[in-house]
Amino acid sequence: MSRETELARIAARVHSCQRCELWRTRTNPVVGEGSLSARLIFIGEAPGYSEDQQGRPFVGKAGKVLDELLASIGLHRSEVYIANVLKCRPPGNRDPLPAEIEACTPYLDAQLDLIQPQVIATLGNFSLTYIFEKFGLHAKKDKISKIHGKVCTVSSITGVTMIVPLYHPAVATYNPGMKQILLEDFQLLRELL
Ligand code: URA
Ligand code: SF4
Repeated sequence: MSRETELARIAARVHSCQRCELWRTRTNPVVGEGSLSARLIFIGEAPGYSEDQQGRPFVGKAGKVLDELLASIGLHRSEVYIANVLKCRPPGNRDPLPAEIEACTPYLDAQLDLIQPQVIATLGNFSLTYIFEKFGLHAKKDKISKIHGKVCTVSSITGVTMIVPLYHPAVATYNPGMKQILLEDFQLLRELL
């Protein structure tokens, strides 16, 4: 089966999903978008208002920052893949609940199996926590202020995966100083590719 077909199957499941209560309040689920042969995947937290309206990841204020950060290393969003831990928007953008993360992450796992990225960049704390646990990196987990922009390497039968924790781009929308830190961390991403 082609990657496109397989992703279409994942997307169809997400669209009809009722594994947690968030399907009741969402407008559109946000599966993810980008290149299925991307070497780099970004994983955010959950759709916000604009994403829920449009059914696309990172299309609001945080998305504008992400687009700028990508442009700073010569990349366009079509060359990477962008997904979230949760596929449906939590009401009022509240934090994801543990049960929602557990219910939803099989979809993210399926996307990771399909794309097999060499570099996984986590955006924000929920993504960091999920990915570090998934890859057995509990021992290396630390505050984002300590580990942002540092590479963790995991090897498996499919090869070596590099995991890079990043601040969530939304932080730059309310704390302009964070933009510089994100820009520097993106330079590191460029070196890895
Ligand atoms: N914040 C996220 O974590 N994901 C999005 O898709 C948009 C904003
Ligand atoms: Fe299903 Fe995930 Fe949406 Fe919950 S958030 S309904 S698990 S797709």
